[in-house]
Amino acid sequence: MSAGTLEISGLTTSYGPVTALDTVDITAERGQVTAVLGANGAGKSTLLRTISGLVRPAAGQVLLDGTDLTHAPAEAIARAGIAHVPEGRGVITELTVEENLRLGAMLGASRRRTERGLAQVYEMFPPLAQRRRHDAHVLSGGERQMLVIGRALLSGPDVLLLDEPSLGLAPRIVAQIFGLLRDLVDSDGVTVLLVEQNARSALSIADVGVVLNLGRVVARDAAAALAADDGLRHAYLGF
Ligand code: ATP
Repeated sequence: MSAGTLEISGLTTSYGPVTALDTVDITAERGQVTAVLGANGAGKSTLLRTISGLVRPAAGQVLLDGTDLTHAPAEAIARAGIAHVPEGRGVITELTVEENLRLGAMLGASRRRTERGLAQVYEMFPPLAQRRRHDAHVLSGGERQMLVIGRALLSGPDVLLLDEPSLGLAPRIVAQIFGLLRDLVDSDGVTVLLVEQNARSALSIADVGVVLNLGRVVARDAAAALAADDGLRHAYLGF
């Protein structure tokens, strides 16, 4: 098994009386984008928050390359190689672009590793390189999304959890960011779990997709097969 296989089994998470995730099984493989789709409230954000240790599951397991991380603290999960980019960005506008990126470097990472990571992020996202010394408040919505993805990449993750990276962005910018994401997966072999309400765009770059409804998996298949399923699209995917 190559590094970066994320296996989720029987995962169940509740908020008081609300069961947000109900016995969910998902395997995400290295070098693949796994799209997690579904309407508002389907449990997508809860899935990512449970994987990264921000909320605790009532049952089930999260394994990274066979190592059980289910009850590990969030810091340990991050150190194990899982980076979470939550919905809503989290750019610190008073810091420069580069200062924001450096926050993503692992505590204790060597200077050389950090500089190499920065160079890679700048190569991948040229608008960030151009604005590296500017305060981040000058960035557009799309550039802010590049920044938070870049910051996550600076920790050198095996697994990238992305929550709604298309939110609030124009279709052209979504296509650009998703294209860059696909390039990243193809060149670095990272494992991506991509949570999206924008199912059409997500399926266009994903390898496989999982559809959640009310916390349960209602479909899983190759991305192209899901996109071609009219009944499923109308019932759950909104396009
Ligand atoms: P969205 O796109 O709106 O974030 P989602 O698919 O990510 O939707 P979740 O945010 O995971 O769905 O929510 C799943 C369910 O859990 C919903 O019924 C939601 O109301 C509930 N929920 C989410 N967060 C909490 C919380 N902190 N406390 C109580 N209930 C919550």
